[in-house]
Amino acid sequence: MDQPSESGRKSIQLQGIGVSPGVATGPVYLLTTDEDRFVERDIGEDEIAREIARFEDALILTRKQIHEIQAQVKDAIGPDSASIFDAHLLVADDRAIVDEVIRGLYVRKKNVETVLREVSDRYMQALMKVEDDYLRERAVDVRDVTRRILRNLSGGSSQAIARFTEPHILVTNDLAPSDTAVLDKDHVIGFATDLGSPTSHTAIMARALGIPAVVGLHDVSVRISTGDQILIDGNTGVLITNPSREQLERYGKVEESRQAIRSDLETLRDQPAETLDGYHVVLSCNIELEKDVDQVLDNGGTGVGLFRTEYLYLSRKSLPSEDEQAAIYEAVAARVAPGPTVIRTLDLGGDKFLSQLRMPAEINPFMGWRAIRFCLAQPDIFKTQLRAILRASIHKNVKIMYPMISNLDEVLRANELLEECKSELRALDVPFNEKIDVGVMIEVPSAALTTHLLAPHVNFFSLGTNDLVQYTLAVDRVNERIAYLYEPTHPAILRLIKNTIDVGHEHGIWTGICGEMAGNPLMVPLLIGMGVDEFSISPSLVPLVKDVVRKLRYSQAEDLAEVAMTSESASIVNERCRELVGQIAPEILELVT
Ligand code: PEP
Ligand code: MG
Repeated sequence: MDQPSESGRKSIQLQGIGVSPGVATGPVYLLTTDEDRFVERDIGEDEIAREIARFEDALILTRKQIHEIQAQVKDAIGPDSASIFDAHLLVADDRAIVDEVIRGLYVRKKNVETVLREVSDRYMQALMKVEDDYLRERAVDVRDVTRRILRNLSGGSSQAIARFTEPHILVTNDLAPSDTAVLDKDHVIGFATDLGSPTSHTAIMARALGIPAVVGLHDVSVRISTGDQILIDGNTGVLITNPSREQLERYGKVEESRQAIRSDLETLRDQPAETLDGYHVVLSCNIELEKDVDQVLDNGGTGVGLFRTEYLYLSRKSLPSEDEQAAIYEAVAARVAPGPTVIRTLDLGGDKFLSQLRMPAEINPFMGWRAIRFCLAQPDIFKTQLRAILRASIHKNVKIMYPMISNLDEVLRANELLEECKSELRALDVPFNEKIDVGVMIEVPSAALTTHLLAPHVNFFSLGTNDLVQYTLAVDRVNERIAYLYEPTHPAILRLIKNTIDVGHEHGIWTGICGEMAGNPLMVPLLIGMGVDEFSISPSLVPLVKDVVRKLRYSQAEDLAEVAMTSESASIVNERCRELVGQIAPEILELVT
């Protein structure tokens, strides 16, 4: 809906997906400096020399960065892994590519970003077509180095974000989880993106940081300019440009009332997560960084059910060493003790990539070389982490969890490497917990359907519904166009969840749930009724979930689960879930997105 506002500037209201609650109002900062979003521009004869100079500066910086990363990787994990950067240096030094770009500037009379992209696309396509595996892989090097040069030409997107000095609402096409992780809350008071969905890691990170966010707005980044005033509501997904006084007042009041409910819920912090009839629920939290433990404790979480350790590897130039990781894991475990600390091993890939490691460009990254697959192929990196976790396990509450298991062999191989790490530590007389618990994430349908094969080899399961839903329903979790199909209560998902819990119990092991579904207060009674033993959720959601648990009777949860298991569709289940929470804790309906 477009209409003029009081300021006379056009007001537009857009509907996206609210992924991190709260209302934010302020001036827009439009971020367009991502390496893939440069503007194609015609240049005059007199600008060619300047473009060549820019290109050469970016090349020098790129080579310097690659040398630095290579040295850091060598220190952290050894010369073999560092040698992959030799290939990057070969590309950055390749005279044929460099000369072709310079020639292209004279012929095409376009800015250097455009010409470089054209040349590199041609090289990549030619390399992809050759039979030889080695040469085909060089296409990845060309892509990576091109990205780095483009980023250096633009100044780098994360640097642009870091340059803010005044509070802004960031508007951009898409934001990488690694860029979201470094947002400065004082200066970025909210963000809105064209792409994204509630279970993307960018959205999860926004909730962890407590920054209101609306994603999936399709074309907001071309409809809005730097300096526009906007309002975003991270609960309802509304974005309004140049809002009127009346709109500001209305949303201000809504936010005030939400804040009042939230402050009431703060009183629950030290209360147990127990139903009215005494059924106890374990309420742990998902964390991305060590400092998130403050929020776990402030909100009354009693453990860490998912430490997404990949964030230790993102947003930095070198891989974290064994000592550095051990210190972080120990610190987290000590602070949440006696509650559990479940440390998930590196879950890279999908929508999380490391700039310091070469990962191939894949058409389907979520189904590609990621998580445990990547770790088993890179035992140096994996074992460094396993030894660090083992060292932290002198705190007996530390547990290990492998992500994205799709078959038993992966568990057996990971456990073999874990045993090797134990032997290495024993040989050095380094203490650790010999009986450390090992669990697997159940987030691939093949794992959920073969829990009976996995159970004898592990101590617990944790349902990763964010991925389980995308793989089972064939719905990419970060694609806003098909977000309407992303249904955690689809009958197929409920069956996989139930099977996992029941098989776990038959084998005497517990099942947690750490996907975003677990933190949705509307779903909590259903999951309790299905038999989930542990919830691991974003810290800010602990008070909401605890409120629901404390107003619930276990028998109501069981009844709801029984109805849900025989329902035909997700919408029917969602309605029943909302109905029950509306009856027992109506205030919660105002807070959910
Ligand atoms: C999941 O897939 O549900 C999960 C918790 O892991 P992540 O969101 O990090 O993929
Ligand atoms: Mg996952």
